[in-house]
Amino acid sequence: MKFTFMPDFRFDTFDQASAEFLTSIGVKSIILDVDNTLEPYENPLPTPKVIAWFDTLATHGIKAAIVSNNDAERIDLFNKDIGLVAYSKAGKPFKKNILRAMADIGADAESTVLMGDQIFTDVWAAHNAGIRAILVPPIKDKRDLLTRFKRLLERPILKKYERKRLNKQ
Ligand SMILES: [Mg+2]
Repeated sequence: MKFTFMPDFRFDTFDQASAEFLTSIGVKSIILDVDNTLEPYENPLPTPKVIAWFDTLATHGIKAAIVSNNDAERIDLFNKDIGLVAYSKAGKPFKKNILRAMADIGADAESTVLMGDQIFTDVWAAHNAGIRAILVPPIKDKRDLLTRFKRLLERPILKKYERKRLNKQ
């Protein structure tokens, strides 16, 4: 059984998870967090870099959906031009809306991965839904107490991940 909070993969930025990489690990569908994964909170629209990345996914036949805990106003605007299946106020780490998004795009657990920036929201949610998780660092982290506390709790998990990764090399 998978360790609940352990990411399956880590990258420094979302687009390092290239269509080639995703295909190489058997991924046909990807569920995406938005805030601090694809864009910082203050960017209402996807940048050309994000749009180009979605285009290469589509070219490789990889389906994508958005599952965000942020509100509909934010997510609907972000998604206006890209037009993906999108769930806001998704309640991650609960799996319900991840499973709904997967059903909407015809994804199965074995060939789906979720990418997000938070261990106790995104990685946990992915594993609750029975899919793999890619963790990226938050693009622009908040500095409030709760966020700093969460990062502190994440630290031992990230250390363990790096130890495992080094042992495999
Ligand atoms: Mg996020």
